[in-house]
Amino acid sequence: MSSAGSNVGTATVGDVFTLIRDRRDVTRTELGHLTGLSRTAIASRVAALTALGLVVEREQAPSTGGRPPTLLSFDAAAGIVLSVAVGISRTRLAVCDLAGEVLSIGDIDQEVALGPDDLMPDVVKRLDVMLQDHPGVPIYGVGLSLPGTVDRERGCSRDSPILRGWDGVELRPYFDELPRLAGVPVVLDNDSNAIAAVESQGYDDVLVIKASSGLGAGIVAGGVLQRGAAQAAGEFGHNKIAAAQGLPCRCGDTGCVEAIAGGWAVVHALQQQGHLVRHLRDVVELAHGGDAEARRMIRDSGRYVGEVLASAVNLLNPAIVVVAGDMAGAYEIFVAGLRETLYGNATAQATRTLEVVPAAHGARSGTVGGAVMVLDEVLSARAVDELAATRSVTPSR
Ligand SMILES: [Zn+2]
Repeated sequence: MSSAGSNVGTATVGDVFTLIRDRRDVTRTELGHLTGLSRTAIASRVAALTALGLVVEREQAPSTGGRPPTLLSFDAAAGIVLSVAVGISRTRLAVCDLAGEVLSIGDIDQEVALGPDDLMPDVVKRLDVMLQDHPGVPIYGVGLSLPGTVDRERGCSRDSPILRGWDGVELRPYFDELPRLAGVPVVLDNDSNAIAAVESQGYDDVLVIKASSGLGAGIVAGGVLQRGAAQAAGEFGHNKIAAAQGLPCRCGDTGCVEAIAGGWAVVHALQQQGHLVRHLRDVVELAHGGDAEARRMIRDSGRYVGEVLASAVNLLNPAIVVVAGDMAGAYEIFVAGLRETLYGNATAQATRTLEVVPAAHGARSGTVGGAVMVLDEVLSARAVDELAATRSVTPSR
């Protein structure tokens, strides 16, 4: 936004849109001051944005001091985006407006180890049903998140130790099967990164932990999401810890923190003891019901995760650690364990002002994150410039 202001008089349609989107309400005069654009230049850019439907103009209530200027605002109802958060045992789908507000949400509870050919057609079918409530509304994009490392360019999973049969399978073609989604941009990312897209807002240095069946993190440092050289940043679930020594992990190795603290390992351990649990969500329910063993295992999971996170906190010095994922369903229990080892092992300097907080969007953080992730791309200044330039090519309806 400051770039629009510093490049006096060169702000594009997309730059003007970004200013309007960020500011909620703004007048033409204010836009002139912010961009250095002439009145006519502002008028033509605003006209392009109102033609796209992305900006609406409305009268302010008349005051005694004469006719007030009209206000320009972003119209979040001008379109929708879809969010698909693929999990190990549950895939969550949502229709969101252009501000990322969830309009409707749906779940697919799936058998563990469903391949893309089994799951994705179901996902598309469900989206088709959900879209029937939004006839004729432009669809700006789909935000898709998967556990493990992904290839964002090709739109597929890469080296996932968890999603068997997904590696290298391009996922965009599944969406193209549905006429309303054919050609709509599909933005893919890792599930923890999707959560970080929404849960890091307002902070420059954040560690977002997704503690569910698997364990992963989204890292925001200096205001930028860190993906790493091979897009594999944040995969802390396969850090080795002493307590897990010799325990087999899903990745094929032994001794990973996930093998003792991941939701799948907790479920497995409880099943061995004769508990009728299928998912981590069942364990969370047991814990809330007062089951001592379930509570102990969730607290221990927090302890092991905190042990590994301590070095990440020393290295990155985040302002906040956000806890998301199914484990956050028993947040107090999990975080009691996590604080113990995190504060015990990290330096006083790195933890003095550190805050550990639950995901603001709770169990919806992954789906809302997926929407925010695709919105950041399809409503970027550059994307809106392209939309305005090819006005005849409107988003798919
Ligand atoms: Zn592992």
